[in-house]
Amino acid sequence: MSRVLVIGCGGVASVAIQKCCQNESVFTELCIASRTKEKCDALKEKLEGKTSVKLTTAYVDADCVGEVVSLIKEYKPEVVLNLALPYQDLTIMEACLECGVNYIDTANYEPENTDDPKWREVYEKRCREKGFTAYFDYSWQWDYAEKFREKNLTAVLGSGFDPGVTSVFTAYAQKHYFDEIHTIDILDCNGGDHGYPFATNFNPEINLREVSANGSYWENGHWVETEPMEIKRTYEFPQVGEKDMYLLHHEEIESLAKNIPGVKRIRFFMTFGESYLTHMKCLENVGMLSTSPIEFDGKEIVPIQFLKALLPDPATLGPRTKGKTNIGCIYTGIKDGKERTIYIYNVCDHQECYKEVGSQAISYTTGVPAMIGTALVAEGIWDKKGAVNLEELDPDPFMDMLNQYGLPWVVEEHPMTVE
Ligand code: NDP
Repeated sequence: MSRVLVIGCGGVASVAIQKCCQNESVFTELCIASRTKEKCDALKEKLEGKTSVKLTTAYVDADCVGEVVSLIKEYKPEVVLNLALPYQDLTIMEACLECGVNYIDTANYEPENTDDPKWREVYEKRCREKGFTAYFDYSWQWDYAEKFREKNLTAVLGSGFDPGVTSVFTAYAQKHYFDEIHTIDILDCNGGDHGYPFATNFNPEINLREVSANGSYWENGHWVETEPMEIKRTYEFPQVGEKDMYLLHHEEIESLAKNIPGVKRIRFFMTFGESYLTHMKCLENVGMLSTSPIEFDGKEIVPIQFLKALLPDPATLGPRTKGKTNIGCIYTGIKDGKERTIYIYNVCDHQECYKEVGSQAISYTTGVPAMIGTALVAEGIWDKKGAVNLEELDPDPFMDMLNQYGLPWVVEEHPMTVE
Protein backbone atom coordinates (compact mmCIF):
# COMPACT_ATOMS: atom_id res chain seq x y z
CA MET A 1 0.00 0.00 0.00
CA SER A 2 1.81 3.12 -1.08
CA ARG A 3 1.44 6.53 -2.55
CA VAL A 4 4.12 7.56 -5.04
CA LEU A 5 4.84 10.78 -6.90
CA VAL A 6 6.49 10.25 -10.30
CA ILE A 7 8.19 13.32 -11.79
CA GLY A 8 8.69 13.25 -15.57
CA CYS A 9 6.48 11.65 -18.20
CA GLY A 10 8.82 10.68 -21.05
CA GLY A 11 9.85 7.32 -22.51
CA VAL A 12 11.16 5.79 -19.28
CA ALA A 13 8.38 7.14 -17.06
CA SER A 14 5.70 5.76 -19.39
CA VAL A 15 7.08 2.22 -18.89
CA ALA A 16 7.73 2.61 -15.14
CA ILE A 17 4.19 3.89 -14.55
CA GLN A 18 2.62 1.06 -16.57
CA LYS A 19 4.73 -1.42 -14.58
CA CYS A 20 3.58 0.18 -11.28
CA CYS A 21 0.04 -0.38 -12.51
CA GLN A 22 0.84 -4.10 -12.93
CA ASN A 23 1.99 -4.20 -9.29
CA GLU A 24 -1.24 -3.12 -7.63
CA SER A 25 -0.53 -4.76 -4.27
CA VAL A 26 2.36 -2.31 -3.72
CA PHE A 27 1.28 0.79 -5.64
CA THR A 28 -2.15 2.00 -4.65
CA GLU A 29 -1.97 5.70 -5.60
CA LEU A 30 0.25 7.41 -8.14
CA CYS A 31 0.58 11.04 -9.14
CA ILE A 32 2.20 11.65 -12.54
CA ALA A 33 3.69 15.14 -12.60
CA SER A 34 5.73 16.83 -15.29
CA ARG A 35 6.46 20.05 -17.13
CA THR A 36 4.02 19.18 -19.92
CA LYS A 37 0.89 18.13 -18.02
CA GLU A 38 -0.93 17.06 -21.23
CA LYS A 39 1.47 14.08 -21.53
CA CYS A 40 0.60 13.03 -17.95
CA ASP A 41 -3.12 13.34 -18.70
CA ALA A 42 -2.76 11.27 -21.89
CA LEU A 43 -0.96 8.47 -20.03
CA LYS A 44 -3.56 8.53 -17.23
CA GLU A 45 -6.32 8.26 -19.82
CA LYS A 46 -4.58 5.31 -21.52
CA LEU A 47 -4.32 3.42 -18.21
CA GLU A 48 -7.63 4.21 -16.56
CA GLY A 49 -10.02 1.30 -16.41
CA LYS A 50 -7.12 -1.16 -16.81
CA THR A 51 -5.72 -0.81 -13.29
CA SER A 52 -6.96 -0.33 -9.73
CA VAL A 53 -4.12 2.13 -9.02
CA LYS A 54 -5.62 5.57 -8.36
CA LEU A 55 -3.96 7.91 -10.86
CA THR A 56 -3.79 11.69 -10.68
CA THR A 57 -1.72 14.21 -12.63
CA ALA A 58 -0.07 17.56 -11.90
CA TYR A 59 2.07 20.24 -13.48
CA VAL A 60 5.49 20.79 -11.94
CA ASP A 61 8.67 22.54 -12.99
CA ALA A 62 11.22 20.41 -11.17
CA ASP A 63 13.99 22.97 -11.73
CA CYS A 64 12.29 24.90 -8.95
CA VAL A 65 12.66 23.38 -5.44
CA GLY A 66 9.69 25.44 -4.20
CA GLU A 67 7.33 23.96 -6.81
CA VAL A 68 8.38 20.40 -5.98
CA VAL A 69 8.02 21.10 -2.24
CA SER A 70 4.48 22.47 -2.75
CA LEU A 71 3.47 19.43 -4.80
CA ILE A 72 4.92 16.98 -2.26
CA LYS A 73 3.14 18.81 0.59
CA GLU A 74 -0.12 18.68 -1.31
CA TYR A 75 0.08 15.05 -2.53
CA LYS A 76 1.91 13.61 0.51
CA PRO A 77 3.69 10.68 -1.19
CA GLU A 78 5.91 8.18 0.66
CA VAL A 79 8.40 8.08 -2.22
CA VAL A 80 9.28 10.41 -5.10
CA LEU A 81 10.44 8.65 -8.26
CA ASN A 82 12.47 11.09 -10.35
CA LEU A 83 12.16 10.20 -14.04
CA ALA A 84 12.78 13.71 -15.35
CA LEU A 85 16.32 14.53 -16.49
CA PRO A 86 19.60 14.35 -14.55
CA TYR A 87 19.49 18.18 -14.43
CA GLN A 88 16.67 17.97 -11.88
CA ASP A 89 18.28 15.45 -9.48
CA LEU A 90 19.50 17.97 -6.91
CA THR A 91 16.38 20.14 -6.83
CA ILE A 92 14.18 17.06 -6.35
CA MET A 93 16.52 15.61 -3.68
CA GLU A 94 16.47 18.96 -1.91
CA ALA A 95 12.65 19.02 -1.94
CA CYS A 96 12.44 15.41 -0.66
CA LEU A 97 14.77 16.29 2.18
CA GLU A 98 12.74 19.35 3.10
CA CYS A 99 9.50 17.34 3.12
CA GLY A 100 10.88 14.15 4.73
CA VAL A 101 10.19 11.85 1.75
CA ASN A 102 12.26 9.01 0.26
CA TYR A 103 13.83 9.59 -3.17
CA ILE A 104 14.80 7.41 -6.13
CA ASP A 105 16.22 8.16 -9.60
CA THR A 106 17.80 6.49 -12.63
CA ALA A 107 20.60 8.86 -13.63
CA ASN A 108 23.49 10.71 -12.07
CA TYR A 109 23.28 14.52 -11.65
CA GLU A 110 24.76 16.69 -14.34
CA PRO A 111 24.19 20.42 -14.85
CA GLU A 112 22.19 21.73 -17.78
CA ASN A 113 24.57 24.66 -18.18
CA THR A 114 28.15 23.45 -18.14
CA ASP A 115 29.36 27.05 -18.46
CA ASP A 116 28.00 27.92 -14.99
CA PRO A 117 31.14 29.28 -13.24
CA LYS A 118 30.17 27.91 -9.81
CA TRP A 119 29.73 24.39 -11.17
CA ARG A 120 32.85 24.70 -13.42
CA GLU A 121 35.09 25.46 -10.47
CA VAL A 122 34.11 22.22 -8.70
CA TYR A 123 34.25 20.32 -12.01
CA GLU A 124 37.74 21.46 -12.90
CA LYS A 125 39.03 20.61 -9.44
CA ARG A 126 37.53 17.11 -9.80
CA CYS A 127 39.09 16.66 -13.27
CA ARG A 128 42.49 17.48 -11.81
CA GLU A 129 42.13 15.39 -8.66
CA LYS A 130 40.27 12.32 -9.94
CA GLY A 131 41.35 12.29 -13.58
CA PHE A 132 38.06 11.91 -15.47
CA THR A 133 36.38 14.71 -17.40
CA ALA A 134 32.77 13.54 -17.87
CA TYR A 135 30.23 16.22 -16.97
CA PHE A 136 28.59 13.95 -14.41
CA ASP A 137 29.92 12.45 -11.21
CA TYR A 138 28.38 11.26 -7.96
CA SER A 139 29.97 13.81 -5.63
CA TRP A 140 26.97 16.16 -5.86
CA GLN A 141 24.48 13.51 -4.83
CA TRP A 142 26.73 11.71 -2.33
CA ASP A 143 27.02 15.08 -0.57
CA TYR A 144 23.38 14.54 0.44
CA ALA A 145 24.09 11.18 2.15
CA GLU A 146 24.54 12.58 5.66
CA LYS A 147 21.48 14.85 5.38
CA PHE A 148 19.26 11.95 4.27
CA ARG A 149 20.69 9.73 7.05
CA GLU A 150 20.05 12.40 9.69
CA LYS A 151 16.41 12.59 8.61
CA ASN A 152 16.10 8.77 8.53
CA LEU A 153 15.43 8.86 4.78
CA THR A 154 16.56 6.76 1.84
CA ALA A 155 17.75 8.16 -1.48
CA VAL A 156 18.39 5.37 -3.99
CA LEU A 157 20.65 6.57 -6.81
CA GLY A 158 20.50 5.06 -10.29
CA SER A 159 17.71 2.46 -10.43
CA GLY A 160 17.64 2.00 -14.21
CA PHE A 161 19.46 -0.74 -16.13
CA ASP A 162 22.93 0.73 -16.36
CA PRO A 163 23.31 2.02 -13.75
CA GLY A 164 20.84 0.01 -11.76
CA VAL A 165 20.51 -3.61 -12.79
CA THR A 166 24.26 -3.73 -13.51
CA SER A 167 24.86 -2.67 -9.88
CA VAL A 168 22.39 -5.28 -8.60
CA PHE A 169 24.05 -7.98 -10.78
CA THR A 170 27.35 -7.01 -9.17
CA ALA A 171 25.96 -7.24 -5.63
CA TYR A 172 24.43 -10.62 -6.57
CA ALA A 173 27.74 -11.90 -7.99
CA GLN A 174 29.52 -10.71 -4.85
CA LYS A 175 26.95 -12.34 -2.54
CA HIS A 176 26.58 -15.71 -4.28
CA TYR A 177 29.50 -16.34 -6.65
CA PHE A 178 32.71 -14.71 -5.41
CA ASP A 179 34.87 -14.19 -2.34
CA GLU A 180 36.64 -11.46 -4.29
CA ILE A 181 35.71 -9.78 -7.57
CA HIS A 182 38.79 -8.68 -9.50
CA THR A 183 37.44 -7.33 -12.81
CA ILE A 184 34.06 -6.13 -14.03
CA ASP A 185 33.23 -5.56 -17.71
CA ILE A 186 29.80 -4.04 -18.25
CA LEU A 187 28.57 -4.74 -21.79
CA ASP A 188 25.61 -2.79 -23.15
CA CYS A 189 24.51 -4.11 -26.52
CA ASN A 190 21.59 -2.78 -28.49
CA GLY A 191 21.06 -5.08 -31.47
CA GLY A 192 17.85 -3.26 -32.41
CA ASP A 193 17.25 -1.41 -35.67
CA HIS A 194 14.71 1.46 -35.94
CA GLY A 195 15.33 2.08 -39.64
CA TYR A 196 16.34 5.76 -39.25
CA PRO A 197 19.86 6.79 -40.34
CA PHE A 198 20.23 8.52 -36.95
CA ALA A 199 18.14 8.59 -33.77
CA THR A 200 18.86 8.16 -30.08
CA ASN A 201 17.11 5.60 -27.90
CA PHE A 202 16.62 7.90 -24.97
CA ASN A 203 16.74 11.66 -24.41
CA PRO A 204 19.05 12.88 -27.25
CA GLU A 205 20.71 15.58 -25.22
CA ILE A 206 21.71 13.26 -22.37
CA ASN A 207 22.59 10.42 -24.75
CA LEU A 208 24.81 12.47 -27.07
CA ARG A 209 26.60 14.19 -24.22
CA GLU A 210 27.44 10.78 -22.76
CA VAL A 211 28.61 9.17 -25.98
CA SER A 212 30.68 12.07 -27.33
CA ALA A 213 32.62 12.48 -24.05
CA ASN A 214 36.06 11.01 -23.34
CA GLY A 215 36.06 7.36 -22.34
CA SER A 216 37.52 6.15 -19.07
CA TYR A 217 37.98 3.07 -16.95
CA TRP A 218 39.08 2.25 -13.42
CA GLU A 219 42.32 0.34 -12.95
CA ASN A 220 44.41 -0.36 -9.85
CA GLY A 221 42.88 2.42 -7.80
CA HIS A 222 42.76 5.22 -10.36
CA TRP A 223 41.03 6.46 -13.51
CA VAL A 224 42.51 5.97 -16.97
CA GLU A 225 41.01 8.36 -19.51
CA THR A 226 40.82 7.71 -23.28
CA GLU A 227 39.79 9.71 -26.34
CA PRO A 228 36.10 9.23 -27.30
CA MET A 229 35.69 5.82 -28.99
CA GLU A 230 39.43 5.13 -28.76
CA ILE A 231 39.03 1.57 -27.48
CA LYS A 232 37.03 -0.74 -29.70
CA ARG A 233 36.32 -4.44 -29.16
CA THR A 234 34.13 -7.02 -30.86
CA TYR A 235 31.95 -9.40 -28.86
CA GLU A 236 29.60 -12.24 -29.75
CA PHE A 237 26.48 -11.41 -27.73
CA PRO A 238 24.16 -14.30 -26.83
CA GLN A 239 20.91 -14.06 -28.85
CA VAL A 240 22.13 -10.93 -30.70
CA GLY A 241 25.33 -11.89 -32.51
CA GLU A 242 28.67 -10.23 -33.14
CA LYS A 243 28.82 -6.45 -32.55
CA ASP A 244 31.46 -3.72 -32.34
CA MET A 245 31.53 -2.04 -28.95
CA TYR A 246 33.39 0.99 -27.61
CA LEU A 247 34.70 1.87 -24.19
CA LEU A 248 32.78 4.75 -22.56
CA HIS A 249 32.89 6.50 -19.23
CA HIS A 250 29.82 5.44 -17.27
CA GLU A 251 28.54 6.49 -13.89
CA GLU A 252 28.39 3.09 -12.19
CA ILE A 253 32.16 2.68 -12.60
CA GLU A 254 32.54 5.42 -9.99
CA SER A 255 30.21 3.86 -7.43
CA LEU A 256 31.35 0.26 -8.01
CA ALA A 257 35.00 1.32 -7.56
CA LYS A 258 33.97 2.75 -4.18
CA ASN A 259 31.69 -0.07 -3.06
CA ILE A 260 33.27 -3.32 -4.32
CA PRO A 261 36.29 -4.04 -2.13
CA GLY A 262 39.35 -5.38 -3.91
CA VAL A 263 38.13 -4.69 -7.47
CA LYS A 264 41.10 -4.09 -9.75
CA ARG A 265 39.53 -3.03 -13.04
CA ILE A 266 36.08 -1.82 -14.16
CA ARG A 267 35.23 -1.05 -17.80
CA PHE A 268 32.03 -0.16 -19.63
CA PHE A 269 31.41 -0.94 -23.31
CA MET A 270 28.47 0.05 -25.50
CA THR A 271 27.72 -1.14 -29.03
CA PHE A 272 27.32 1.41 -31.86
CA GLY A 273 26.80 0.99 -35.57
CA GLU A 274 28.87 2.85 -38.17
CA SER A 275 25.94 5.08 -39.20
CA TYR A 276 25.37 6.32 -35.64
CA LEU A 277 29.05 7.12 -35.10
CA THR A 278 29.47 8.90 -38.44
CA HIS A 279 26.41 11.07 -37.87
CA MET A 280 27.45 11.90 -34.34
CA LYS A 281 30.98 12.88 -35.36
CA CYS A 282 29.65 15.09 -38.14
CA LEU A 283 27.11 16.80 -35.84
CA GLU A 284 29.83 17.32 -33.26
CA ASN A 285 32.24 18.76 -35.83
CA VAL A 286 29.72 21.38 -36.95
CA GLY A 287 28.88 22.35 -33.35
CA MET A 288 25.42 20.81 -33.12
CA LEU A 289 26.21 18.96 -29.87
CA SER A 290 27.12 22.16 -28.06
CA THR A 291 25.21 23.03 -24.88
CA SER A 292 26.32 26.68 -24.97
CA PRO A 293 23.61 29.09 -26.23
CA ILE A 294 24.20 30.97 -29.52
CA GLU A 295 22.40 33.96 -31.08
CA PHE A 296 20.31 33.04 -34.12
CA ASP A 297 17.98 35.49 -35.86
CA GLY A 298 17.74 37.63 -32.74
CA LYS A 299 16.97 34.63 -30.57
CA GLU A 300 19.12 32.60 -28.22
CA ILE A 301 19.19 28.89 -29.03
CA VAL A 302 21.11 25.93 -27.60
CA PRO A 303 22.39 23.83 -30.54
CA ILE A 304 21.82 20.42 -28.92
CA GLN A 305 18.26 21.42 -27.95
CA PHE A 306 17.57 22.47 -31.52
CA LEU A 307 18.97 19.12 -32.69
CA LYS A 308 16.65 17.35 -30.23
CA ALA A 309 13.70 19.07 -31.88
CA LEU A 310 14.78 17.70 -35.28
CA LEU A 311 15.47 14.11 -34.22
CA PRO A 312 12.78 11.44 -33.81
CA ASP A 313 11.31 11.44 -30.30
CA PRO A 314 12.71 8.27 -28.63
CA ALA A 315 9.20 7.56 -27.34
CA THR A 316 8.05 7.07 -30.98
CA LEU A 317 10.68 4.46 -31.90
CA GLY A 318 8.70 1.57 -30.38
CA PRO A 319 6.71 0.41 -33.40
CA ARG A 320 9.74 0.56 -35.75
CA THR A 321 12.46 -1.00 -33.61
CA LYS A 322 13.18 -4.66 -34.25
CA GLY A 323 15.81 -6.88 -32.64
CA LYS A 324 17.09 -7.44 -29.13
CA THR A 325 19.21 -5.83 -26.44
CA ASN A 326 21.68 -7.77 -24.33
CA ILE A 327 22.99 -5.92 -21.27
CA GLY A 328 25.09 -7.56 -18.60
CA CYS A 329 28.37 -7.87 -16.74
CA ILE A 330 31.33 -10.24 -16.95
CA TYR A 331 33.06 -10.82 -13.61
CA THR A 332 36.39 -12.47 -12.89
CA GLY A 333 37.63 -13.21 -9.40
CA ILE A 334 38.16 -15.89 -6.77
CA LYS A 335 35.79 -18.32 -5.07
CA ASP A 336 37.06 -20.85 -2.49
CA GLY A 337 40.62 -20.25 -3.62
CA LYS A 338 39.85 -20.95 -7.31
CA GLU A 339 39.59 -18.54 -10.23
CA ARG A 340 36.07 -18.00 -11.51
CA THR A 341 34.49 -16.11 -14.45
CA ILE A 342 30.76 -15.53 -14.85
CA TYR A 343 28.52 -13.45 -17.11
CA ILE A 344 25.13 -12.23 -15.85
CA TYR A 345 22.92 -10.73 -18.53
CA ASN A 346 19.40 -9.99 -19.68
CA VAL A 347 18.13 -10.21 -23.23
CA CYS A 348 15.16 -8.04 -24.11
CA ASP A 349 13.19 -8.01 -27.38
CA HIS A 350 12.15 -4.57 -28.72
CA GLN A 351 8.95 -5.82 -30.33
CA GLU A 352 7.88 -7.79 -27.24
CA CYS A 353 8.26 -4.59 -25.19
CA TYR A 354 6.27 -2.67 -27.74
CA LYS A 355 3.46 -5.23 -27.61
CA GLU A 356 3.33 -5.05 -23.82
CA VAL A 357 3.73 -1.32 -23.07
CA GLY A 358 4.06 0.50 -26.40
CA SER A 359 7.79 1.29 -25.97
CA GLN A 360 11.11 0.06 -27.29
CA ALA A 361 13.46 -1.98 -25.11
CA ILE A 362 15.71 0.90 -23.95
CA SER A 363 12.83 2.62 -22.17
CA TYR A 364 11.57 -0.79 -21.01
CA THR A 365 14.89 -1.93 -19.55
CA THR A 366 15.09 1.36 -17.60
CA GLY A 367 11.44 1.69 -16.59
CA VAL A 368 11.11 -1.82 -15.12
CA PRO A 369 14.04 -1.44 -12.65
CA ALA A 370 12.79 2.05 -11.74
CA MET A 371 9.49 0.48 -10.69
CA ILE A 372 11.25 -2.38 -8.83
CA GLY A 373 13.55 -0.05 -6.86
CA THR A 374 10.58 2.15 -5.95
CA ALA A 375 8.53 -0.88 -4.83
CA LEU A 376 11.37 -2.10 -2.58
CA VAL A 377 11.76 1.34 -0.99
CA ALA A 378 8.00 1.82 -0.64
CA GLU A 379 7.65 -1.56 1.10
CA GLY A 380 10.61 -0.84 3.40
CA ILE A 381 12.54 -3.87 2.06
CA TRP A 382 15.31 -1.53 0.95
CA ASP A 383 15.64 0.81 3.92
CA LYS A 384 19.32 1.72 4.16
CA LYS A 385 19.41 5.37 5.14
CA GLY A 386 21.44 7.99 3.28
CA ALA A 387 22.14 8.38 -0.46
CA VAL A 388 22.97 4.88 -1.66
CA ASN A 389 23.82 3.13 -4.92
CA LEU A 390 22.13 -0.13 -5.74
CA GLU A 391 25.15 -2.38 -5.16
CA GLU A 392 24.95 -1.36 -1.47
CA LEU A 393 21.52 -3.00 -1.09
CA ASP A 394 20.37 -6.64 -0.89
CA PRO A 395 20.18 -7.82 -4.53
CA ASP A 396 17.99 -10.92 -3.97
CA PRO A 397 14.49 -9.35 -3.87
CA PHE A 398 15.38 -7.14 -6.86
CA MET A 399 16.67 -10.14 -8.86
CA ASP A 400 13.44 -12.04 -8.14
CA MET A 401 11.35 -9.10 -9.32
CA LEU A 402 13.38 -8.76 -12.55
CA ASN A 403 12.26 -12.30 -13.42
CA GLN A 404 8.70 -11.54 -12.42
CA TYR A 405 8.35 -8.20 -14.27
CA GLY A 406 9.80 -8.92 -17.69
CA LEU A 407 13.61 -8.77 -17.44
CA PRO A 408 14.70 -12.38 -16.80
CA TRP A 409 18.44 -12.88 -16.37
CA VAL A 410 20.95 -15.64 -17.03
CA VAL A 411 24.13 -16.58 -15.16
CA GLU A 412 26.65 -18.15 -17.54
CA GLU A 413 29.82 -19.78 -16.20
CA HIS A 414 33.02 -19.66 -18.31
CA PRO A 415 31.84 -17.02 -20.81
CA MET A 416 33.99 -15.51 -23.54
CA THR A 417 35.87 -12.59 -21.95
CA VAL A 418 36.85 -9.21 -23.44
CA GLU A 419 40.58 -8.75 -24.09
P1 NDP B 1 12.53 11.99 -21.87
O1 NDP B 1 13.19 13.18 -22.43
O2 NDP B 1 11.72 11.09 -22.74
O3 NDP B 1 11.59 12.40 -20.64
C1 NDP B 1 11.98 13.34 -19.67
C2 NDP B 1 10.74 13.83 -18.97
O4 NDP B 1 11.13 14.75 -17.95
C3 NDP B 1 9.76 14.57 -19.90
O5 NDP B 1 8.47 14.21 -19.54
C4 NDP B 1 10.06 16.03 -19.57
O6 NDP B 1 8.99 16.89 -19.76
C5 NDP B 1 10.34 15.92 -18.08
N1 NDP B 1 11.07 17.09 -17.62
C6 NDP B 1 12.19 17.65 -18.15
N2 NDP B 1 12.54 18.76 -17.47
C7 NDP B 1 11.60 18.90 -16.49
C8 NDP B 1 11.42 19.84 -15.47
N3 NDP B 1 12.22 20.88 -15.30
N4 NDP B 1 10.35 19.68 -14.64
C9 NDP B 1 9.50 18.64 -14.79
N5 NDP B 1 9.63 17.71 -15.75
C10 NDP B 1 10.68 17.84 -16.58
O7 NDP B 1 13.69 11.14 -21.12
P2 NDP B 1 13.73 9.57 -20.87
O8 NDP B 1 12.40 9.12 -20.37
O9 NDP B 1 14.35 8.93 -22.03
O10 NDP B 1 14.78 9.51 -19.66
C11 NDP B 1 14.38 9.77 -18.33
C12 NDP B 1 15.58 9.59 -17.41
O11 NDP B 1 16.05 8.25 -17.46
C13 NDP B 1 16.78 10.48 -17.79
O12 NDP B 1 17.33 11.00 -16.60
C14 NDP B 1 17.74 9.50 -18.41
O13 NDP B 1 19.08 9.91 -18.27
C15 NDP B 1 17.45 8.26 -17.59
N6 NDP B 1 17.88 7.00 -18.23
C16 NDP B 1 18.53 6.08 -17.44
C17 NDP B 1 18.96 4.89 -17.99
C18 NDP B 1 19.56 3.85 -17.12
O14 NDP B 1 19.71 2.71 -17.57
N7 NDP B 1 19.92 4.13 -15.89
C19 NDP B 1 18.77 4.57 -19.41
C20 NDP B 1 17.97 5.56 -20.13
C21 NDP B 1 17.58 6.74 -19.54
P3 NDP B 1 8.62 17.51 -21.23
O15 NDP B 1 7.69 16.51 -21.79
O16 NDP B 1 8.00 18.82 -20.94
O17 NDP B 1 9.93 17.61 -21.99
